[in-house]
Amino acid sequence: TEAWRPDDDRPRRPSGPVRVRVPAKINLHLGVGPLRADGYHELTTVYHAIGLYDELTARPGDTLTLTMAGEGAGELVLDDSNLIIRAARALARRTGLPALARLHLRKHIPLAGGLAGGSADAAAALVACDALWGAGLSREELAEVAVELGSDVPFLVYGGTALGTGRGEIVSPVLVRPANWHWVVAAADGGLSTPEVYRELDRLRGAGAAPPPLGSTDPLLAALRQRDPGVLAQALGNDLQAAALSLRPDLADTLAAGVAAGALTGLVSGSGPSCVFLTRTSDAATRIAAALKESGTCRSAEAVQGPMAGARVA
Ligand code: ATP
Repeated sequence: TEAWRPDDDRPRRPSGPVRVRVPAKINLHLGVGPLRADGYHELTTVYHAIGLYDELTARPGDTLTLTMAGEGAGELVLDDSNLIIRAARALARRTGLPALARLHLRKHIPLAGGLAGGSADAAAALVACDALWGAGLSREELAEVAVELGSDVPFLVYGGTALGTGRGEIVSPVLVRPANWHWVVAAADGGLSTPEVYRELDRLRGAGAAPPPLGSTDPLLAALRQRDPGVLAQALGNDLQAAALSLRPDLADTLAAGVAAGALTGLVSGSGPSCVFLTRTSDAATRIAAALKESGTCRSAEAVQGPMAGARVA
């Protein structure tokens, strides 16, 4: 065997801009447990990364700047409160490197849509700055930095299909023979605030008006192993759906329109208001996306596949 030379492992700084693609997430199972003392709910979730992407480009710079185009441009604040800037600074603190970069976001993931767009962008910023600065952190190390940025950020560093526990930040991959699942994502007009949806769930539960909490993830994991979309459709579930529907009753029309168009099932994505539909084939997904757009019950609809890799240099 060849001698190990430390120089071989030294990360190299790229000469051109670094372009990172990051997927949106949906939750195949979102079980919401009790409210914890720290204000978070205890979660048991199965994350799934889908083929709806934001793209972040990082270039060398004398300061740290962020510009953007696409979904939410003009709405999203690009100052130090933006998760992308916070992620770059968190990585700089972790590595001891100066936080210098010109960052540009091309956004496709709807804002406040329940698809973890902001978390995805934070994961993209970690991967992009890591490459730009030649830091060479492992996925595991990047995921550690991700925890302080938000509960969904570690998952978007990894992607795929993964079990999330704690407040969602403890991620372990679901090891199943890879299958291609076909989805339709329907974006809604306007967004929903995630904390507000959790508060609404607490209110509904207090009034005895919410469906009983989802049980274990075992049926969902078994369905993933069976690789049958009809079986998976039966196992999908979201404890936040009742709360999202309570705040946005119009989403019931979106869900009904997707099922009427032939989807196996539909559910609210995370805290909503985006809805996702499972279909048997990619042709069916394309057809159902067109029917949903035609129905006037959503702002846009797109056929996508999952699972996809997490934030990656393109
Ligand atoms: P989740 O499902 O993780 O709750 P979401 O998809 O419902 O998230 P996001 O698009 O992640 O919602 O955004 C939630 C809020 O986070 C936004 O309204 C915005 O104020 C803030 N935010 C900060 N940085 C970003 C970013 N880069 N992209 C989107 N939102 C951001």
